[in-house]
Amino acid sequence: MPAAFPQPTPRRQLALRWAARLLACAAALAGAANASAAGNAACTNAQRIVFTQPVTVTAQERAQIAQLSPLRVLAVSAPPLSQYEEETGRYRGVAIDVLCAITQELGLDWRLDGAPTQTVTEKIAKVQNGQADLFLPLSATLERERLGHFTLALYTSYYVAIARKGRSIEIDRAADLARYRVGLVRGVALQPILEPLVPAAQLLLAQQSFAGGGLFDALRAGDIDVAVFSRDFFVEQRYNHELFDLEIVHTFKEYPRHYGFYLGPDAAHLQLATLLDRYLGAIDTSASLRAHQMGERQLIERYLHQRQQRLLLLISSAGAAVLALAAFIALRHYRQLTQRLEAGHRRIRQQQQALQAANHQLQQLSQTDALTGLANRRMLDQSLAREHARWRRTGSALSVALIDIDHFKQVNDRLGHTTGDAYLRAVAGVLARSLTRVTDLAARYGGEEFLCLLPDSDAHAARTVAERIMDGIAALQLPNPRAGADAGALTVSIGLVTLQSGSHGTADLLQQADVQLYAAKHAGRNRIQATTLRA
Ligand code: GH3
Ligand code: MG
Ligand code: MG
Repeated sequence: MPAAFPQPTPRRQLALRWAARLLACAAALAGAANASAAGNAACTNAQRIVFTQPVTVTAQERAQIAQLSPLRVLAVSAPPLSQYEEETGRYRGVAIDVLCAITQELGLDWRLDGAPTQTVTEKIAKVQNGQADLFLPLSATLERERLGHFTLALYTSYYVAIARKGRSIEIDRAADLARYRVGLVRGVALQPILEPLVPAAQLLLAQQSFAGGGLFDALRAGDIDVAVFSRDFFVEQRYNHELFDLEIVHTFKEYPRHYGFYLGPDAAHLQLATLLDRYLGAIDTSASLRAHQMGERQLIERYLHQRQQRLLLLISSAGAAVLALAAFIALRHYRQLTQRLEAGHRRIRQQQQALQAANHQLQQLSQTDALTGLANRRMLDQSLAREHARWRRTGSALSVALIDIDHFKQVNDRLGHTTGDAYLRAVAGVLARSLTRVTDLAARYGGEEFLCLLPDSDAHAARTVAERIMDGIAALQLPNPRAGADAGALTVSIGLVTLQSGSHGTADLLQQADVQLYAAKHAGRNRIQATTLRA
């Protein structure tokens, strides 16, 4: 396509030359047909453009158009004329709609070229040096017109004065700016117009607009009173940059910016510009303009939606943080409770053990004679009842030995009660040592009388035990201070009863033991007197 367009030639010769060139590039057209799909894909809104009167295109012109390579088109984001949408990777806008409508009428193919990241200057240069055919939308300057061709304007926009809300800025015309500190982005079309009007000391030429440290930061910081900027850019971008504290205070209608299509410098491009002008002269863009200016409302809605989402996110994050904190506190509280509970359990276990030990001790005490350490009378009664019942069940002989210290009263009388108690303990020790079976029981029966319970012991076995007791007491060699007699060792008398058979109760048994003891005493003491009870 670039080779299809010649260098500039006098206007009168253009028609013929253009036709020749168009024919020459016919071969390239078929191959490029597919490439037009990208441009035409943006044409969904072309129906918004209405032609107010028929446009005449000659058959010859149509034939020439049909043989053209797809136009290489470049675009710039300049709402509402065109806007690059990052989500879809496409341009949309009034200029695109117009281009679509005209090219559809003409049957002319085109495709969008150039990355959106390229600067406007780079894109303009491409048109001027023949690397692209058409640039949209662009406002005319003398310099640009010198190196390319503009179509008629399809849109007019204005510069506006922007100030912080609430500031009393009064501007009715450009000359009024002289009263204020004014900011501009360096290189904008209004710069040469404003420079003679505003004293240099009051004019700030910013390198950038919305980016950090640029024009609008200077306005918000109070470094300038007024920013002069493109209305459409500001209206759109203030939502993206949340510049809600700024407002438009004046529109400079006296300096309109007319936007049209910009084509290459050669004759073929001029011809094309002429043809496009024919359509632009008959075009009604109002529906498309309305639709794209509605974009502001969409921006507000999108902004509010994003704000709402951010707020929701913030609320849910805060909620999650509160929940996490509550969970942490609850967990810590639960741990403390568990620790306290464990300590409580430990204390209870210790108390239980102490209680069990005390109970055990109490039970021992309740069953033990305090002086001698032998079983007491209560324990004896329980054991006797149990062994007697067993005797009744098994018939295995049960014996008891009732032991009484001889002349014990005199021990007390002569040697004192303390010695008497020591004697009692010594006798108890002999009894405990004389009983060998675990089932045997030695008990203090009362005073200085003891009773040995000998289960499963017949008369012979019981006598053996009784003799062992007698021997043990004798072996103690305890002085016996009996009055009126030679002092000798302490002795005991034993009444021995063996329950062999019959229906004798415990009372019978004890009574017989008493009888036998009495008999032993009567017979001279220091002896065993025994009997066996049978049916
Ligand atoms: P016998 O040979 O007839 O048995 O003469 P005895 O002096 O031992 O007479 P008896 O059995 O009636 O005497 C019992 C004495 O034992 C009376 C009491 O002073 C004494 N006695 C009873 N219990 C205790 C005690 O716990 N300690 C002391 N020291 N003496 C006791
Ligand atoms: Mg006695
Ligand atoms: Mg006695």
